[in-house]
Amino acid sequence: MNGAAAVIPIQPASRGCADAPVLKERGQREVFCGLTGIIWLHRKIQDAFFLVVGSRTCAHLIQSAAGVMIFAEPRFATAIIDERDLAGLADCNEELDRVVTRLLDRRPEIKLLFLVGSCPSEVIKLDLSRAAQRLSAQFNPAVRVLNYSGSGIETTFTQGEDACLASLVPSLPAPAAHAPAELMVVGTLADVVEDQFARLFQQLGIGLVRFFPPRQATQLPPVGPNTRFLLAQPFLADTALALEARGAQRLAAPYPLGVEGTTTWLQAAATAFGISAQTFAEVTAPARERASAALARQRTQLAGKRIFFFPDSQLEIPLARFLSRELGMALAEVGTPYLHRSHMAEELALLPEGTFLSEGQDVEKQLDRCRSAQPDIVVCGLGLANPLEAEGLTTKWAIELVFTPIQGYEQAADLAELFARPLVRRARLAVEMPVRTAVVAAGTQPEALPCS
Ligand code: SF4
Repeated sequence: MNGAAAVIPIQPASRGCADAPVLKERGQREVFCGLTGIIWLHRKIQDAFFLVVGSRTCAHLIQSAAGVMIFAEPRFATAIIDERDLAGLADCNEELDRVVTRLLDRRPEIKLLFLVGSCPSEVIKLDLSRAAQRLSAQFNPAVRVLNYSGSGIETTFTQGEDACLASLVPSLPAPAAHAPAELMVVGTLADVVEDQFARLFQQLGIGLVRFFPPRQATQLPPVGPNTRFLLAQPFLADTALALEARGAQRLAAPYPLGVEGTTTWLQAAATAFGISAQTFAEVTAPARERASAALARQRTQLAGKRIFFFPDSQLEIPLARFLSRELGMALAEVGTPYLHRSHMAEELALLPEGTFLSEGQDVEKQLDRCRSAQPDIVVCGLGLANPLEAEGLTTKWAIELVFTPIQGYEQAADLAELFARPLVRRARLAVEMPVRTAVVAAGTQPEALPCS
């Protein structure tokens, strides 16, 4: 760990929103539950299986959100708690053991099984942690069985990943004695993004880099006092706490969204591992320049447009920072379901002073604020998007921002485009609707129009 520390190329002249007041609301909220995280987690950890212990509603949520194909043998399922279980007429533990045994007999490729709690399993107080211990002992060493809660009572949708990874931390092996410092990137990233970051870290000369979660449950990264970790996602408070309890140190940084976010995120690792400023500049310059040029094109669509964030994924503050600083958008309101001050400190410092921040939700009040702000685009959950579109507002589904690879230099322009596209579509509709009306009035069939 030698060499001059690299310099972070950002200019937060003021403290931005570091000390800004935050409107805290605790009312009715409109968000998905933590079960949703299974959709991206099961794709990432390729030998893991997620067994939701829940109701038919839970099963429908997962199946429709993941677009399951029957013949695809998905790596998640729901053990449905039925009326007999709810009435206490059946022994849920016995039934669960039977389901798990059948599943593991049929699917020998499963190496890690998560029992995922839901609202119904919590209501009947089914102790999934004891079930996981019991089943782990039974199937050890072929299969590790863990549990976490994805219940809507406890979690919003990205917190499901946090709960899942936090449950996995105690299983991470300890590093060898006197092992050198290692970097761990924490949070699910698309494989393509992970590969890009791995290449950049390698070019920077930062030895061995581990990703958590890993692609295979059999390759759990070691963690200990020699671990320096970077959060790739902003919603991993419990996971970070669990890693710190194992002695790992978090590298404070903004999140890798946009050119600036990616640069400062990489910079935090470069600084911790003593990479010289010159090496950092040389390694990152080509990708930075490419991404900046691609963003300039999106800027023409987005600059000056006003955006309103409903709280949903906890990505709202990093996204707002990216959209305001790199694309010139104006922030009408930035809502987040939960504000972790220390994990967001670097992001808040980069937000424009005076940004309206809110934490939690009282959905009717927030809808009123949104209607009165009349933003050009609204980022919200699926449940709010259609009603707002019907009122004439342009929306972007928050969940799409979690499912799409958006981190890193190569994805910066794609991320900007996710916001530009609905605006372009709305502008086209605004032009075409009067044309269509005029054509219909003149007696021509509307089907003749290219976009009808
Ligand atoms: S866990 Fe709760 S909120 Fe989520 S689908 Fe099941 S019942 Fe609904």
